[in-house]
Amino acid sequence: MANSTILGYPRIGQGRELKFALESYWKGQSSEADLLKTAADLRAAHWKLQRDAGIDAIPANDFSFYDQVLDMSCHLGAVPQRYRWSGGTVDRATYFAMARGAQHDTIDVPAMEMSKWFDTNYHYIVPEFTAAQTFKLATSKPVDEFRAAKGAGIDARPVLIGPITYLLVGKGQGGKNIDLLDRLLPVYVESLQQLEQAGATWVQLDEPALTLDLDDATRAAYASAYKTLRQATKLKIFVTSYFGALGDNTDTALILPVDALHIDLVRGADQLDAVLAKVPAGLILSLGVVDGRNIWRNDLDASLKLLEQAATKIGKDRVWVSASSSLLHTPYDLDLETKLDPELKGWLAFAKQKLQEIVTLTKGLNEGRGAIAAALEASQKAVASRRASTRIHDSAVAKRLAQQPLAGAGRTTGFVERRKLQQAHLHLPLFPTTTIGSFPQTSDVRKHRADAKQSRITPTDYDAFLKEQVKSAIAWQEKIGLDVLVHGEFERNDMVEYFGEQLSGFAFTKNGWVQSYGSRCVKPPVIFGDVSRPKPMTVYWSHYAQSLTGKPVKGMLTGPVTILQWSFVRDDQPRSVTAHQIALALQDEVLDLERAGIRIIQIDEPAFREGLPLRRSAWAEYLLWAAQAFRLSYTGVKDDTQIHTHMCYSEFNDIFDSIKDLDADVISIETSRSQMELLDAFSSAGYPNEIGPGVYDIHSPRVPSVEEMTDLLAKASEKLEAWQIWVNPDCGLKTRDWPETRSALEKMVAAALAMRQRKARRQAG
Ligand code: GLN
Ligand code: ZN
Repeated sequence: MANSTILGYPRIGQGRELKFALESYWKGQSSEADLLKTAADLRAAHWKLQRDAGIDAIPANDFSFYDQVLDMSCHLGAVPQRYRWSGGTVDRATYFAMARGAQHDTIDVPAMEMSKWFDTNYHYIVPEFTAAQTFKLATSKPVDEFRAAKGAGIDARPVLIGPITYLLVGKGQGGKNIDLLDRLLPVYVESLQQLEQAGATWVQLDEPALTLDLDDATRAAYASAYKTLRQATKLKIFVTSYFGALGDNTDTALILPVDALHIDLVRGADQLDAVLAKVPAGLILSLGVVDGRNIWRNDLDASLKLLEQAATKIGKDRVWVSASSSLLHTPYDLDLETKLDPELKGWLAFAKQKLQEIVTLTKGLNEGRGAIAAALEASQKAVASRRASTRIHDSAVAKRLAQQPLAGAGRTTGFVERRKLQQAHLHLPLFPTTTIGSFPQTSDVRKHRADAKQSRITPTDYDAFLKEQVKSAIAWQEKIGLDVLVHGEFERNDMVEYFGEQLSGFAFTKNGWVQSYGSRCVKPPVIFGDVSRPKPMTVYWSHYAQSLTGKPVKGMLTGPVTILQWSFVRDDQPRSVTAHQIALALQDEVLDLERAGIRIIQIDEPAFREGLPLRRSAWAEYLLWAAQAFRLSYTGVKDDTQIHTHMCYSEFNDIFDSIKDLDADVISIETSRSQMELLDAFSSAGYPNEIGPGVYDIHSPRVPSVEEMTDLLAKASEKLEAWQIWVNPDCGLKTRDWPETRSALEKMVAAALAMRQRKARRQAG
């Protein structure tokens, strides 16, 4: 008989209980005992939920107080020196200091670095290794949680991150982390032996790195590591790959001396044939047919076909039915969405519903389709209703997109000529100053927004309040002498939600929270249908702001790739098509802004790079359609309208040519923390347009001095032509307070003035 299983369950709690327990514990408002109790209750509730749903093999140690990779670093004793770990058990204070930094008594240490977990929006704590790195078993969390499950009557399968993936996601060692394997493996062996002694039958070792481009040395490391583990334990070993197909690592994965292997049949549906063709005798295949990364209801018939194909080849006993990845990346429970209309709800499945889908599919495989006839029929109906729904399919959108020559999207006049036309009416000085868009979202601003939403104040009062904010922001920007002003984005809750709420084809959930990092969760919009813009979204505020000043006010939009990237995206058409639809909706907005007298328009793309596929071979295709989407969003603007974009990260090397392809007149980027080093890439690649390298880090309340910023600008001038350089902060200022914002921006303007004077002196002398 086939078994049902999942690789992991969300842990923050359906009411975000863990978030609130953590945050109150960190503030010293509740005890450690309270925190431990909340955690134990959540684990017990999630195990019970899985058992009641009928899941056969339930994971343990998929829980975490902060992050599962950090848990592994503590388990393996990889604690960086600055945390002054005693070498015994890693205690909770050390754990949270690693996660969040610590500042008290004699301790003042920053947190460890955070990075995105593969191509998800989940951030993990990056392990740090040194050349002298040693490892040592330093927590008993996996065994403890296994025993707790046992106490609840569940013979669970403990989950660990596999040794190769663990090393590969770490930093240090100049990319040669794999050399640490010999030192690491004995600790894994000890860990597995402990689990075995505690009575575990299975262990799950997560190896999502099996879906990445690997070199031969890493492939060889897989073979030798698992040989060592195999010889050291009688535990049955379950290795998981997810977030893509095994591809050229198929052989590497299939020859591992393990008992079960998980493959992702959502991202890698095409790999089943290749895997079945080579699967060794006896190996169990866990088939991820239910999407662990998205919120769509499963097409049971399509999934069952894959499962049946596998069962025909290797027998039901060797098939496990599962979700493509851990359910960590999906929200909890669709039943909580009381405000979503029934039709849309009928198309969705959250974590709890996905458990049911897995159990139903397992039953269908074991007992035949007749045993799940009703479920199959309901699933068929949902598929058909989605396919035919007029709420999803808008022929006008399809027609408009079909008529777009995508390759020709963008501007026909070259940058040099455009620049002249823009300068003729903008009259900007050298080193023009601006900001990235948002000003502080003070508690007053947030309170008024909440009050307006709850109808505690009238729309008229809210409008008047926002106008006051914009008015004083404009007056202040004029006073300190900024050259290009912004309205301040006071009316926006979030840079994606604000647009999604005004576009057709988007829906919003009440409780669709997904863990982003630590106690933080996000609630991504759901893009369910063809996207269009019923009416202008930002013109009112930009126009109002421009009416108050003779200086140019920059219109402010979120770009198509970022909106796509930070939403749950429909699975019934390619991502590129959805991105291009969003781009057309934004194009309407760009042209309306232009008509309303806005001469500079910024289209933010902070998520442009994170959309890069995991495999290099897929990069070119992505970069092509993503750059086309960006250009499509401003196609049709006049030559003398200046288009800006903004990206706030510093890894540009992989995407450099595409950044040029965007052909924005001005790009602002994050550079202050890297001391303008990043500009080397821009100057050596011959970046032809204008650039605003951020001159100060907005992630900290620290106010930089005029000299610091002048020095950075001087460095920038060594790498770029003076006419190319804009002066701005690294990112928007919404998370800052006004006092530091005022002070920092006044100093920034002074730094720009100093640069202009220096330039004038040079020319005179
Ligand atoms: N315009 C946005 C702001 O200033 C950009 C935010 C971002 O890059 N994440 O807040
Ligand atoms: Zn930014």
